[in-house]
Amino acid sequence: MALRFLCNAKISPPHHVKVNLRSKKCLQNVKNLVKSVGVPSISSSPIESLQRGNWVKLICGASFEDVVDIRNLSLVYTLAGVDCIDCAADASVVSAVNEGIEAAREIVYLRRPWVMISVNDDKDLHFRKAEFDPEDCPVDCSRPCENVCPANAILFKGKSTLEASHGTTDKPRVLKGGVVTERCYGCGRCFPVCPYDKIREVTYVRDASTTADLIKRNDVDALEIHTSGRQTTFFNELWDALGDSVGYLRLIAVSLPDGGNSIITSMKEIFSIMKPRLRCSNLWQLDGRPMSGDIGRGATKASIAFAVRLAAAEDRPPGFLQLAGGTNAQTVDGLKKEGLFQTSTGKNLNGESSRTCSHSSSHALVGGIAYGGYARKIVGRVLRSMQFKHGGAALIEEYPEPLLEAVQEALTLVGTVKYHNL
Ligand code: SF4
Ligand code: SF4
Repeated sequence: MALRFLCNAKISPPHHVKVNLRSKKCLQNVKNLVKSVGVPSISSSPIESLQRGNWVKLICGASFEDVVDIRNLSLVYTLAGVDCIDCAADASVVSAVNEGIEAAREIVYLRRPWVMISVNDDKDLHFRKAEFDPEDCPVDCSRPCENVCPANAILFKGKSTLEASHGTTDKPRVLKGGVVTERCYGCGRCFPVCPYDKIREVTYVRDASTTADLIKRNDVDALEIHTSGRQTTFFNELWDALGDSVGYLRLIAVSLPDGGNSIITSMKEIFSIMKPRLRCSNLWQLDGRPMSGDIGRGATKASIAFAVRLAAAEDRPPGFLQLAGGTNAQTVDGLKKEGLFQTSTGKNLNGESSRTCSHSSSHALVGGIAYGGYARKIVGRVLRSMQFKHGGAALIEEYPEPLLEAVQEALTLVGTVKYHNL
């Protein structure tokens, strides 16, 4: 099994992450926990997880760029056994993910999850930031934007309410603070709650040449292209601009929303664009209800309905199917009800283009699940508490008690897909 891992893993660059064994007993509990769940992915490759239908991807967020949080999340979910960590296509973010992975592997030596970078070919919900000028906000605003933000990306300094104008001075203070850009991942929840319509949406498209350079790093394994699927002109342009860099990849994912009756046609067009230079496995990310998994149980319904339709479409192009967008702790149960959880197709879903695939004779109909907002929420609670006590730059491996708690939280989610003995 170790040999198989070595064949499928890239050699990571040297990382010099010092693990502080402040509490050996608690850290030992983390090691024992990780070993006790019988993590199958420790001894198998990510592509095998897709074939079995127990692939799990952590989505850090295509626009989320808080490197401290990203490093801590990557560490925790590596210990929980995810197959892939998906992050913004930004050099410092990629480094943070890899540092988290290597710090985890210093605690328990396990297989390195793949690192995926996410880009877009056109305007897309995942590639935007909120922006406003706090000095332009009424000082007596009750700040609903701050309360609704799931990423704690809107912060104000000092008092802003009527207290300011009712104080000893009759000159009201202006608000200070605003959007913490690197933490905003574009969920959009703050836009409709502002009573004064002060919040703007700033969209962007990742630069293709920067992406191509990132792909050539030896610590990037996979690429995800977000596309609307409505037309393929922009996808074609991006694919052309990426040039030979795609030959460095182990997996190429295309993330698209449910386009109704035209979805199979769109997928076929996209696949025909990729096919001449596709030298690795490919995956379709079924983006049900984007960035909503933390909102409530029902948020996952759209991604399950999307999977049901695609699984029934026998004329879909080659590629693994993976759910995203609203996925949460209810997703596996929903797939089970539809008979799609780790159900074998009896045929190879990955087409003829795979080099890394071991070409087993049957694959799971649904390769796995990607978790974003919900995964970040359950571990984020632990991270916030740790940072409150130890500062915003706290590295979780230096605090074994929160580390144990965070890994337990992560395992409750990852375990629904991977570890049936939990
Ligand atoms: S778009 Fe979402 S993450 Fe960004 S500031 Fe608004 S609520 Fe927060
Ligand atoms: S809700 Fe609107 S006006 Fe109020 S603080 Fe937030 S951005 Fe400013």
